[in-house]
Order: sequence, then structure tokens, then C-alpha cells
Amino acid sequence: MSFTINKLPFEKNALEPHISSETLDYHYDKHHQAYLTKLNDAVKGTDLENKSLEELITSQKAGIFNNAAQVWNHSFYWNCLSPQGGGQASGKIKELIEKKWDSFDNFKEAFSTACATNFGSGWTWLVQNSDGNIEILSTSNAGSPLTSNQTPLLTCDVWEHAYYVDYRNARPKYIQAFWNLVNWDFVNSNLK
Ligand code: MN
Repeated sequence: MSFTINKLPFEKNALEPHISSETLDYHYDKHHQAYLTKLNDAVKGTDLENKSLEELITSQKAGIFNNAAQVWNHSFYWNCLSPQGGGQASGKIKELIEKKWDSFDNFKEAFSTACATNFGSGWTWLVQNSDGNIEILSTSNAGSPLTSNQTPLLTCDVWEHAYYVDYRNARPKYIQAFWNLVNWDFVNSNLK
């Protein structure tokens, strides 16, 4: 059995002008697919091929961890984006954000700063801890909240390949655009 990835939950051009179809040609068809291919090659014929992706992420290191987590992180990231997304948070997550940061704008600023200052390649997350509280977490490279037993709610991919085609080196412009796409229904559906 080999691992698979789902089709994108939107058309390639549906996120324009914020994220272009050309970005997705590379980011989904090349980068995400390459992590999948490397993972499948690495686990082929071993006991690991019958594990879940989550089991690999929480038990493996180095190459298998990196590729498994990058497969998982990207699938999660696509679900965080929607052509109908953006705007203010809604539902239960809105309450939790306002409880923690007093206002949505404060949260947006804190999350944007965390994305902008996440050094090098990585992911910035909104996560829920086992006590129910939410927080912002930045991970490096393929880093995943699953290894610290936190529930991912939202993520922004801050690897350069996520924005270089559209924004060159201007990560803050990509982060600004990201807010027009956030799928708050998906974020709410991840809450425990
Ligand atoms: Mn990426």
C-alpha cells in the first residue's frame, strides 16, 4: 500500500490574484508530489508502509519524518485555503481568538509577525493544546504540531516556494494575501 494525496479542494486558478495557478503548478504538482514520491520510495517493502501518516510523523526521524510531515502539512494547508475564505474569523474559533488576543486584529497581527519572523523555511500554526487553549506556534522545516501533541487548526506555509513565484522575496506580501483565503469553516472543524 502506498500513501496518496487528495486533489486540491479548489481549481488551480481559484485563489487568484492572491495565489496564482503557476504557484500551484509548482507547489502542489511538483513540491507536494515530490515529498509523496520520496516517502513512498523510502517506506516501500518495509513495515512502515502500513502505518498511518500520523504514526510516521510521531515515530520517525530524518528523511521519513521530513517527507511524511511535508505530505501531511501540505494537505492540511490546502484545506486551510478557500476562494470563499478570508475576512474575520467566525463561530467558536472567533470566541477563542477574542478570549486570547482581545480582538481578531490583534491575533492577525501576532500571527502575521510569527509568519514573517519564522526564520528560514517552516510553517506557522494556530494550534489547540490539550487543555483547550489556543496558541500560535512556529515550526522549522517540516516541523509538525503533532509531535508536541497539539491539534493543528490553521497553518501558513512560509517556505519560499509558497510565495516566490507571486511575490519574489516579499514574504509579508504573501502573508497579507493569505488572510484573503483563510477557510474559517475548516479551522472550526479542527477544534476538539
Ligand atoms: Mn510548501
